[in-house]
Order: sequence, then structure tokens, then C-alpha cells
Amino acid sequence: MKILKTTATTLLLLLVYSTQAQRLIKTTENVHTYALEVKPQTAYALKFTKAFQSISVAYGTGQSLKGAEVRVGEEQFFLEKNSHVRSESQQFSQLLVLAKSENGFQFESGQLSGKIQIHLYNLGNTQAVQRQVQAYKARFRTQQNCGKPASIPQSVWRTGLTPEPIPDPVVTDVKHLIIHHSVSSNSATDQVAILRGIYLYHRATLGWNDIAYNYLIAPDGTLYEGRDPQGKETEGDNIRGGHFCTGRQDGTMGVCLLGTFVDFEPSVPMLKTLIDILTWKVKKDGMDPFGTAPHPLGMPIVNNLPVIAGHQDGCTTLCPGAKVYEKIADIRDKISADVQVCAGKTDHCAALRITGDVYTAVYQLERDFETSLANCKSGNGTGNCTALCSGKSFLDQITTLRSQITAIEQACQNDTQNCVQPCNSQNLLNLLTQLEQQVNSEIQFWLNSTSEVSQEVTLLESEVNQTLANCNTNLEACRAFYPANTFEASITALKAKVDSLQAICQADANASTVNADILRSKLSRLEIKIDQKITELSQQNQLVVYPNPVSNGLLQIRSLAIAQITAIRLKNILGKGFSIRQVVRTSNPFVWQVLLPSLPSGWYLLEMQIDGKWERRRLLLK
Ligand SMILES: [Zn+2]
Repeated sequence: MKILKTTATTLLLLLVYSTQAQRLIKTTENVHTYALEVKPQTAYALKFTKAFQSISVAYGTGQSLKGAEVRVGEEQFFLEKNSHVRSESQQFSQLLVLAKSENGFQFESGQLSGKIQIHLYNLGNTQAVQRQVQAYKARFRTQQNCGKPASIPQSVWRTGLTPEPIPDPVVTDVKHLIIHHSVSSNSATDQVAILRGIYLYHRATLGWNDIAYNYLIAPDGTLYEGRDPQGKETEGDNIRGGHFCTGRQDGTMGVCLLGTFVDFEPSVPMLKTLIDILTWKVKKDGMDPFGTAPHPLGMPIVNNLPVIAGHQDGCTTLCPGAKVYEKIADIRDKISADVQVCAGKTDHCAALRITGDVYTAVYQLERDFETSLANCKSGNGTGNCTALCSGKSFLDQITTLRSQITAIEQACQNDTQNCVQPCNSQNLLNLLTQLEQQVNSEIQFWLNSTSEVSQEVTLLESEVNQTLANCNTNLEACRAFYPANTFEASITALKAKVDSLQAICQADANASTVNADILRSKLSRLEIKIDQKITELSQQNQLVVYPNPVSNGLLQIRSLAIAQITAIRLKNILGKGFSIRQVVRTSNPFVWQVLLPSLPSGWYLLEMQIDGKWERRRLLLK
């Protein structure tokens, strides 16, 4: 299910609204079914007398949902086929769960043509149920020693929904623990509504015995009991569900993560609860979390189904989504470690395993960098940061994480007798190395080519280099060193610009990792370069004028050779002369003291007549 919160109104203008009316054909307390005859590429503004918070569509075999959409307020849903349902007579869309109760929606038929059915679900007062869930959670106890994590019973979350589950559920000998996702919205805030919607969709619309899964987990980590054992067993883990491939439900226990994890990361609390419920089952039944076993029905595609598997390991589906599926190896690793900890071992590597602090920080860093980079590239919402793209904070964090990983590995190696082996750190180190390469190449790209502030810094750098080179032969070029209006002022201004842009970026939570340290250090290097050149300018052979820069107007001229200074004069850089207030020859015959007049700061020329020849020294007054 995809939700676009964009302007869909322009598209509507191209469509003709039909006045075709829907007809109520079946109604129960919670599910109302309407029939509607549709034409292709037609928009329908549908109004209903009964409020609903959830929608699904049934349509004929041979028909396609391509282009079919539901719009409610600003929410736009693209209808997709539910490929898990096998029916001879009709096909079903996925379940849509809305943010709140509604009385109507806009339906765009796309390629659909002919009779369809619309199922509207009254989920009841989900806010009241949510409050009951919270009250129940307040009594939760943390489970120790691989016990079953606390869960919300069916009697709490399913309250008031009809029809009830079909009586007499089947008990099965579980060999496989199957992970799913619900393909519901990741931005939804009312998970109880989603849970109740899924129940009604499975039970009433698809006609299944009960909700398909044994357990469901919300993004906040709350565990919900799924298929109702109805007294057949106490914990619900061996009740045969309806979550795996059609006709192959035996021997499986299904856990469903509420959300869509195709390109969205499951939350840490959700993963932790998933690991806890699977760990409990693995330990209780003595299962091997790394093992495989033939599926009890011996179907060819599941001959060697892992003990802990994703739905897609056995059936043709993308479930549980790539972002969960790619973590299953880490989930097995963590379950194995947890079972060993429950048997008395110490997991020094806990922070490196999935849901551990360091593991989470590594993946979070990767996501932060992607977000930061996307912000930099698009300027979207953080346009001011575009000019400042820099990865220094990322490089620093990579270094810190690397050293943390090394220290944790060392702690495990120092306690080989007790430590759960091995530390699962190679993936994390590889990820950090990849990230480091990416950060470095992106920094180069942005600093060299794209960032406007960076371009200003680069331009200034080349101007300084050129001027410094010219200054040795052309005094006029040295005017650029006047502090008031040229390079020093440019550097100061650019630093201020960088600082203020960074302040704006840091005020934006999305761009908090963008920083400008690299640009700032480049400007500092430029400053040093100018300072060094200024010092060089005052150090020529045979004659030293110091201090230079001159701060209080008093300077000394020391002749290193045996030479007589017979006259001294001071000019500005353009050659205009100033009178020198006092020249004193000291007791050292080679040292003169000169008191300069009070002048604006900047570069000047000090001219001295030595053995009848005039020589110039550039002098900086501060
Ligand atoms: Zn699934």
C-alpha cells in the first residue's frame, strides 16, 4: 500500500464524475458490503450512511486493479491485489486503514470494469480500545530467562468485533517460525485500528477462521496475541494459522510486524519483541535457530525451510519486506545468543547484535548520512545546508564506532570461557568501511563542485595564491593584503557565513548532522598562508625590520651587514610619503630605532638609504 500526500487534484480535473449509486448488499455489525457497477477510468464520489475506518475491494477474476485508487481527504491509496488469497470466483485488494472514521471517499476505477464489491469496516471506538490496551500494558512485567514476553490478549484488542473466530482451532506441531509484515501504513498512529481491520478483513471478507497470525507486533514493540486458541492450548503458539502458503499452514507459527518494510526500517522495539517471542519459542521447544527442516507437508518449494524464516522463503511473496528479510540472519544470531545467556553465558557482544546499541548506531548513521545527503542534493527543507555539505561529523562517528567495536570484541576475547561466541561484528565493520568511502567521495564531490560557499572558498584560495605570487614582483598586488577590504575581510566574512548557515542547519532536525568543519579548516589554512606570506615579506637578507607587523608604532631596524643607513622614509603602498617622527641610532651601531606616526592599519613601504642606495621593506601596521 502506498500513500501519497501530494496534490492529486490536478488529475481529478481530467476525470468525469459518475453519479452511479452503490447498493448495500450485505451488512453485519462491523462489515458493510456494497455492490457497484463501474466503468473504466471513471471517478466516483461515494457517500455512505454508515461510518467506516477501513476499506477493501473485491473484483472479478480476469480484472486488474491497475490505476484503481481511493482518496480520502489528503490520503491517496493505490489499490493492489492481495496475492495471498486463492478464490475461484473473485479477487481481493489489500486492506486500507484510514486515519479516522469517514462517511465517504473518492474511487477512481482505473482499468476496472463491471461489478465490484466494496467492503467498509466499522472498527468501533478504537480510541477506547487503545486506552484499554495501555491500561493492560501498565501491568506488564518484564520477562526473565527467555520467558514469553507480556502480550495483549484477544479479549482486549478484539473486544466488540463480530463475527467471532470459527470454533475449534487446529493444533499443529510447529517446526518453522515465519516472519511477516502486514503491508499497513508506516505513518499510522492507531495500530489497534489496523489490528482490528486485519481481523475483520481476514475473518469476515476473506472468510478465514480467525486472524491469520499467531502474534502481531506494533512499531512500539507491543505484542498482541493473534489467532485465538479458544482453550485448546494456553499460549497460542501451536495453533495452526492462515499466514503461510495456501494449504501449507501446518507446522508453522506466524509473527506479523505491523507496517510495510520494503524500504522502511522496522523499529528497534519492534525487532526486540520479535526476537523475544521467537527466543521463547526456540528455547521452550529446543529448536535450532540456525537450522532448517523439511516442511511437514513435504511440498517441493519448502523441502529445506529454515527454522526461522521469512514468508518469502516458502511462498511467492515479498513479505516480510527487504528491510526485515535482510535482518533475519542477525535475528537468528541474537536469538542464539539470548538462549545461551539464559543458560548462564555472558554476551559481551550484546551491543553488536541486532537491537544492541552499537548495531543500532551503525545502521542509524548510515540512514542519517543518506538523509543528510538527500537534503544536500535536493535542498529540500534545508536549502541552506546545500552550501555546507560536509561529512566530518560522519567520519568522526565512524571512527568512534570502529573503536567501540574493537573494544567489545576484545572484551569477548578476554573471556573466552564465558563469552557467547563469536562477536557478530564483521558486517558492521564492512558497513562502516563502505560508509566511510561514500562519505569521502561525497565530500569531495560537494566541496569541489557543487556547494556555493565551497566555490567561494576555492575562488578566494586561488586569488590569494595568484596575488602572493604577483606580490613578489609587483608591489601594487600587495594592496590586496590590506586587512580592511580584501583577503582578511573575505576570510572573516566567509567564516561568518559558514557559521550562520550551520546554525540554521542545526536548528533543522533533519540536517543536524550536516556541518561545515571542512570548509572552516580550509579557511583557517588560507589564513595561515596569508600570515606566513606577510612574515616572509619582512624577512629579506641583510636588513631586518622588526617587529613586523608593527603594533605600537615603534620598530627597530637592524643591519646584518656592516652598512650605514643614511636616511629613512615611509610611504603608503601607492607611494605617498609620511613624515617619520623620530629616528634614533642606538648604542649598537647597526641598530636604529624608528617611531612611526599614527596611521591606519595596513601595508606600507619603509625606504632606507644604505650606502647611498635606496632599499624598500614592506611593513604591516596593525
Ligand atoms: Zn506474509
